[in-house]
Amino acid sequence: MAGARKPGRNFLFVPGPTNIPDRILRAMHVAMEDHRSSDFPKLTLPLFEDIKKIFKTKDGQVFIYPSSGTGAWEAALTNTRSPGDKMLAARFGQFSHLWIDLARRHGLEVIVQEEEWGTGASPERIEEALRADKNHEIKGVMVVHNETATGVTSDVAAVRRAMDAAKHPALLYVDGVSSIASLDFRFDEWGVDLAITGSQKGLMLPAGLGIVCVSPKALAAMKDAKCRRCYFDFTDHMKANPNGYFPYTPAVPLLYGLRESIAILQEEGLDNVFARHHHLAAGARAAVKAWGLKICAKEPKWHSDTVTAIMVPQGFNGADVIDRAYRRYNLALGAGLSQVAGKLFRIGHSGDLNELMLLGAISGTEMAMRDVGIEVALGSGVGAAQAQFRGAAEAKEMKVAAE
Ligand SMILES: *Cc1c(COP(=O)(O)O)cnc(C)c1O
Repeated sequence: MAGARKPGRNFLFVPGPTNIPDRILRAMHVAMEDHRSSDFPKLTLPLFEDIKKIFKTKDGQVFIYPSSGTGAWEAALTNTRSPGDKMLAARFGQFSHLWIDLARRHGLEVIVQEEEWGTGASPERIEEALRADKNHEIKGVMVVHNETATGVTSDVAAVRRAMDAAKHPALLYVDGVSSIASLDFRFDEWGVDLAITGSQKGLMLPAGLGIVCVSPKALAAMKDAKCRRCYFDFTDHMKANPNGYFPYTPAVPLLYGLRESIAILQEEGLDNVFARHHHLAAGARAAVKAWGLKICAKEPKWHSDTVTAIMVPQGFNGADVIDRAYRRYNLALGAGLSQVAGKLFRIGHSGDLNELMLLGAISGTEMAMRDVGIEVALGSGVGAAQAQFRGAAEAKEMKVAAE
């Protein structure tokens, strides 16, 4: 870490990058090798198959880029669209905003549905807009599944139902960067056409892999897509990937890390991973309630299980809490972005995480808030989260005993 040495581990509670399990760190600690060797496909071919299980797809095709999630956004759009194409996108936070901005810079005409920050995509409004689009000029619907800036999860299955109800052929583009491998995500079942993720969130890796899952319908859209593309062109990957190769140098250590990440996720079981995130998030939300503060998500249906955005009281700056937490307690919290800069700070609770780790973060947050003058009772959030964790555990044990 930059700066003076701080003993003990840094408490990394930004919503990404997340903590990297030691097993993954060790798996990535490899000598460089020839990525064109006859052995290399032994690593890559199973990876292409196994990553599909994380997206929950049989028919989808996965592309892996040496990029961050932003590159995957670009890949999804440029491979399937032409300049001037109309897109429908809901905007309710910095990430949905940035994706719309990227689409516009590639010449797409994005119809933006503004939603209040703290809420998410509205299936009703999407259905209405699609029904009104009689000539099917809208080519795609863009949804950020988990808006990391505000801690809001949208209902992707409901968006698909809205598209089907409107009998509209638009493709469904989903940003799952902070949801996939942490929250329930079903590519095939939800009829997602392009889903995007990055390596540094639920996959518990460093940033550096941008991953796109593409439906057969979206692959077919490639033949008419005229957006300029080179580095991210699916076509080059489609030539090399079936034999286990890439059109250019892949991020080899990250691929070893991805193999270990998938193994870890499968050992725990994806459904258990989702349940664990839900359990931890409930503890974080209980702490916020005990502090007498509000979270950014307006209603329980929007609650994100990977990140909680906490509104600071009037007259305080979230950035001060974050700075204090970092400098004094070696605790990294997420900042408020754009519209909500200073108004909130975020506790990320995604990836390789357990109850006591999160209690540490809640404890440090409490102290940092007190240090900057926010009147929260010391121990109140920790106690509420402990009670939440124990209550849920007791309920589970009773259920097990009764079975
Ligand atoms: C982190 C994130 C991204 C991608 O960010 P990169 O820094 O490019 O990896 C995109 N969307 C969401 C919702 C995110 O949380």
